[in-house]
Formats: sequence, structure tokens, C-alpha cells
Amino acid sequence: MDGQAHKDGFLFAFPSRAYAAKALTAFRRLGAPIAAGGVLTGDALADTEPALTEGARAGFVVDDQWSLDPGLFVDRLAERLRRQGVELVEGARVSAVSERAGRAEVRTSAGTYRSDAVVVAAGIWSRELVRGLGVDLDLVAGKGYSFSVAAEPPPSRLVHLGAAKVVLTPMGKRVRVAGTMEFERDPDRFRRRRVEAIVAAARPYLRHADWDDLQEEWVGPRPMTPDGLPLIGRVPGHSRVLLATGHNMLGLMLAPATGRLVAGLLTGDADPALSSRFDPVRCARRYPWRVHGILN
Ligand SMILES: Cc1cc2nc3c(=O)[nH]c(=O)nc-3n(C[C@H](O)[C@H](O)[C@H](O)COP(=O)(O)OP(=O)(O)OC[C@H]3O[C@@H](n4cnc5c(N)ncnc54)[C@H](O)[C@@H]3O)c2cc1C
Repeated sequence: MDGQAHKDGFLFAFPSRAYAAKALTAFRRLGAPIAAGGVLTGDALADTEPALTEGARAGFVVDDQWSLDPGLFVDRLAERLRRQGVELVEGARVSAVSERAGRAEVRTSAGTYRSDAVVVAAGIWSRELVRGLGVDLDLVAGKGYSFSVAAEPPPSRLVHLGAAKVVLTPMGKRVRVAGTMEFERDPDRFRRRRVEAIVAAARPYLRHADWDDLQEEWVGPRPMTPDGLPLIGRVPGHSRVLLATGHNMLGLMLAPATGRLVAGLLTGDADPALSSRFDPVRCARRYPWRVHGILN
């Protein structure tokens, strides 16, 4: 179940050697596994990534990083879960989450479900779902945009364009181009000029890309927390309702670790130091009038 994973590390590319050297120092400080050769320029950089133009003057590879097609990965995960006998309900809208008579209850357009516990993992929309429990989450939408273009050749691995703040991810013969951090109340509103800005920033770096035929244009809200850490754990005052959200810019990368922590919290095996670090209580405010049922 690899979702067409590329396991060749990430290339960070920059418009100057000085820019790359500064970034490399910061990465080394973080303990990132930098590939042999350090900062690459000229032919060495061109040989490492023939898809880039001379606009990329310097770069370096960080080893042991994977990229994949998230849609394909989720489809394969769903297939595997179905084979294991898990019931997946798709296309249903959750209208309310609550606790009743020692059970968790989820009301949806496909019916009402009751269970020992429920995990709310609805990204930025988790805010609305727990508001019904009288809890206000400090979570804001940091919107990003992406689209795909045909490129010949496509990059051989994920390329992070440091100065442009754009990420190029190879997906078959196309490349997914993603970027932007737009803070806005409406998580769904699509602004064309944001896509145009990404095109303008990335165009000087990618050789033979068809910028006149953008496909799969998309806007999505990253669930951003004030301290940059996810919210994983029980909703304050509600022992049967857990949150798994607030993964900021790294929801896919952090998903397996989050899954393990959620499982540990449900079985009672979670490391207390770890669970207290991500406890949603630090970003949650309870409405006393709701808790006492005045508005409910
Ligand atoms: C342009 C862009 C590029 C990114 N690149 C990366 C990357 O390279 N690596 C990485 O790790 N992360 C990346 N991220 C961040 C990542 O996408 C997020 O951190 C991640 O999607 C958060 O996952 P989530 O499951 O919490 O929320 P979401 O992915 O937002 O999923 C929430 C789901 O809940 C559903 N939902 C909401 N309300 C309801 C309801 N009432 N009833 C039923 N369903 C509901 C929504 O439809 C949605 O499917 C990127 C984000 C953007 C925008």
C-alpha cells in the first residue's frame, strides 16, 4: 500500500548559492540527513534534477524523505480496511457529535451511530463539530492551493523551491504544484489570483512545463494551531469524544503517529508525556452556559 511512493528524498532548490547555504545550515541544525555533496551547483545540480532550469542555481538533497499521491494512498487504505471487515460510510454529513447515557453519538445524513468513543478528525471543520459540545477551538484555516501541469521531463523526486515557496511533486507524467498560506474565514473560497501567483513563482524553475493547461485546481484549508502542534486527545469535559486535528502543514506526514497516539488513548496505553504535549485543552475554551445546558 505505497500510494506510488517516491523514496528518493527531497531536493531543495534555490536561486543562489548563498540562499542554499543558509538553508543547508538551518537543516543541519535540525539534524536533517543531508545527502553527500552538500550544496550542489552547475552540472551537479542539473544531473541531480534535469527537470529544473538554470533558474535553480543551487540546491541540496535531504535523504530518507518520501512523497506519494495522497488520493491514491487514501483509496488503497480504504480498500485494505474494507478487506479487514471495517465498515466505511462514505458521502455522509455529520451534523452533531454528543455523549448520551455513557455512549458517544454521531448524527449523520446516513443515520445515527452510537459507540464507546468517537474521534473527530474533520480538519478545520472539527471546530464546528465540537462547538455543539460547548467547546471553542483555537483553530484557523491556512489555505493552500494546488494544481497539476504536464512537464517533460517531470521532476524525478519532490522538489521544494525555497525562494518561490512552492513544492513540485511528481505524479506520473504530471507534476503537482502546491503553495500559498492564505488566512481567511471561508475555508472553501477559491481565488484565481492565488493560482496565478504560484504559476509566476514556479515558472522560472521548471523546464518544458505546460503552464497554459492547469488541471486539478484545488484549494484546501490546513488546520492551523497557535503553537504549530496538533490537537490529539479528549475534548475537554467529554471523555468519549476525541480530537485528531490541527496538523498544520503536515497532516499526511503526521497521520501514522497520530493514529498510534489515538489508539493508545483509547486503550489506555498512551505515553502520558506524549499525550499531555498534544492535549487539545491548550487550545480549547469551554462555554459554561452551554455545558450547563442553557442554550442546548
Ligand atoms: C496545498 C497544500 C499542500 C499540502 N502539502 C502537504 C504535504 O506535502 N505533506 C503533509 O503532510 N501535509 C500537507 N498539507 C497539509 C495537509 O493537507 C493537512 O494537514 C491535512 O489535510 C489535515 O488533515 P485532516 O484529516 O485533519 O483534515 P482534512 O484533510 O481537511 O480532512 C477533513 C475531512 O473531514 C471532512 N468533513 C468535515 N466536516 C465534515 C462533516 N460535518 N461531516 C462529514 N465529513 C466532514 C472533510 O470533507 C474532509 O474530507 C498540505 C495542505 C495544502 C492545502
